[in-house]
Amino acid sequence: MVGLREFLLEVEENNADEFVRIEHEVDPKYEITGVVANYEKERRAPVILFEKIKGSPYRTVVNVCASRRRLAQSIGTTRDGLLAKYLTALDNLVKPKTVADAPVHEVREDNIDLFRFPRAIFHEGELGPYITAGIVVAKHPETGIRNASYNRLMVKEKDRMSINMTVGKHLWECWKAAGDSGKPLEAAVVIGNHPAWSLGVLYPGAFGVDEYDIVGGLLGRPLEVVKCKTIDIDVPAEAEIILECEILQQETELEGPFCEFAGYVVKETPKPVVRVKAITQRRNALYQLICGGAHYEHLLMGAIPMEANIFRAVKAAVPSVESVHVPTGFTCIISIKKRAEGQARNAILAALAADLYMKHVIVVDEDVDVTDLRQVLWAMGTRMQGDRDIFVIPEVRGSDLDPSAPKDGIVAKVGFDATAKPTLDRYPPTGRIPQEVLEKTKKFILSL
Ligand code: MN
Repeated sequence: MVGLREFLLEVEENNADEFVRIEHEVDPKYEITGVVANYEKERRAPVILFEKIKGSPYRTVVNVCASRRRLAQSIGTTRDGLLAKYLTALDNLVKPKTVADAPVHEVREDNIDLFRFPRAIFHEGELGPYITAGIVVAKHPETGIRNASYNRLMVKEKDRMSINMTVGKHLWECWKAAGDSGKPLEAAVVIGNHPAWSLGVLYPGAFGVDEYDIVGGLLGRPLEVVKCKTIDIDVPAEAEIILECEILQQETELEGPFCEFAGYVVKETPKPVVRVKAITQRRNALYQLICGGAHYEHLLMGAIPMEANIFRAVKAAVPSVESVHVPTGFTCIISIKKRAEGQARNAILAALAADLYMKHVIVVDEDVDVTDLRQVLWAMGTRMQGDRDIFVIPEVRGSDLDPSAPKDGIVAKVGFDATAKPTLDRYPPTGRIPQEVLEKTKKFILSL
């Protein structure tokens, strides 16, 4: 069994440069983000463990999922193998296994007080405090189908939060269905999560796909789960903290303002209320946060499952798709081995259809490394003509987090065909060097 703390020990032992321990007291208002942002200025994103948080007894970790290399290691692969590993997991789902005893049941908190957790406020303009790294687990009240998702939670009182559930998405659907019979929806909030759990939960699959099965696929073994004490929900046995809750039907509380992944502060609006019935945790529980806003971790966690989802959709339209990369919100780069004219546009249409939020899709040939933005811009500069190779689909439903949209959530989706026309093998050759010469000249360079 491996949870977050075991994973962190591994990182600290094997990749010391990716693990930072901060001993002096840090104010959860802005200072956690301050530390993260200063590392990001240096283009670094280590795991950061705060030993002392002002006003809270909890040690707190941030940036667990902020690097592709770390995420890859958490599921036993390399940075370059991440997409393939995720796709394999989707084809090899593994059901969870119920266990009787769980570390997360070591301590039951009788005194429910959400303000004992770090009162996290990440950016100016936010009122907070927020719980940002909680996986919300619920079941559809009629079918029993489980759903697990990340939702932002604003702490309002000792045992009350307001929750952001995207209208039409799976958790919202479960909550609505419970409301049909006038009942609250039971839900557990899981805090302190192994990266594989996060990656699995974030897959944008169809309703009915149990996210725990994807986690099992990623781990290559069943996720061990245990039943909550006061609600009929199974949670990861190795989690650090569980909030046993119900999402109420009638009451609302203001939620927001909050800086979202697009980098802009979202206004406050009334949202459903979550009431906490019980808290269980591991001994010396470790608290976890994800910095809101456009920070590495927030963007990357969603990007990897999104890449797998888009890859699958594009593969159905263009079987010779090579790779997909989501470098930032609303944008993706796809490489294909174009075997026939027009396939770049098919790839663009498939990607835009597969992901509601996807807005700009760039397609390149297979000789371009999609993760190297300099190469991508080179392809756009030398294989694309704006009047011929850019096409715009106006007034499509997109993200409501895009402040440039003229109407809320209505955007223009754009495809950029940066592949060589008509095909790469009929295009001027690039400056290549014979492979044997590359090998031979390696010897001249001492560091290689
Ligand atoms: Mn779901």
